[in-house]
Amino acid sequence: MRKVFMLVVMCVFLMSGMVLASGHGGSVMSPAKALEKIVTGNDQFVKSHKPHYFEPYQTSQHPFVTMITCSDARVQTNALLPDAIDKVFVIRNIGNQLVVSRGSIDYGILHLHTPILLILGHTHCGAVKAAMGDYKGETEGIRNELDHLHLPLMADTGKGDFELRWLKNVERNVDWQVAQAMSFYPNLVKSGKLVVVGAVYDFLNVYGKGYGRMVIINVNGVTCPQKIQNHPVLNDLSKVMRKVVVGSHH
Ligand SMILES: [Zn+2]
Repeated sequence: MRKVFMLVVMCVFLMSGMVLASGHGGSVMSPAKALEKIVTGNDQFVKSHKPHYFEPYQTSQHPFVTMITCSDARVQTNALLPDAIDKVFVIRNIGNQLVVSRGSIDYGILHLHTPILLILGHTHCGAVKAAMGDYKGETEGIRNELDHLHLPLMADTGKGDFELRWLKNVERNVDWQVAQAMSFYPNLVKSGKLVVVGAVYDFLNVYGKGYGRMVIINVNGVTCPQKIQNHPVLNDLSKVMRKVVVGSHH
């Protein structure tokens, strides 16, 4: 009897672990372990950076990019810059949307005057995937944010290979956000003080440009790769790099 009871307890324990481990692919790490990791990581940072490292930005920040990207843990600034501190003004939400973080983006563009607004979507975006399906069961907060993805995904016919549709919708969302940004800051874009760059962070290598490549698919609303390659904003890149970094829509 006792053995059976133990078996049942073990099964329930294992199953509860499985439920936690599935869901949205989240971790089953305990809160204490998670905090220990963060504190240890920060301690290493403190020990490896001397006081003079912090001096240049103690009174103000100096970013040269305002970046709006997805909250997805697989997308991080160290894929773009080894040390993004004081360089990137970051806004993140599910699905890299302007409309749900308008004030933060205004701050980067109108107060910090970054010359680039980078809208960075990514392959296998869970927010885009969720917006393609039924998300009635989500919380009100999640539903409210996903609702804004309906317009960008309007062109999706709902037919064909799912992976390809998913990728196309990631691209549509990037294009949509670029168009929104251009409508928010038309004069800055016209004067050339601001360039809006739309890109996809590709950790699947679906563009064939290398795992982890930031693939530019839109500059100020221009989506033709040839035209993007000739845009002045790419002038400081080598010819080879211009080809590598610019990608075609699927
Ligand atoms: Zn995402």
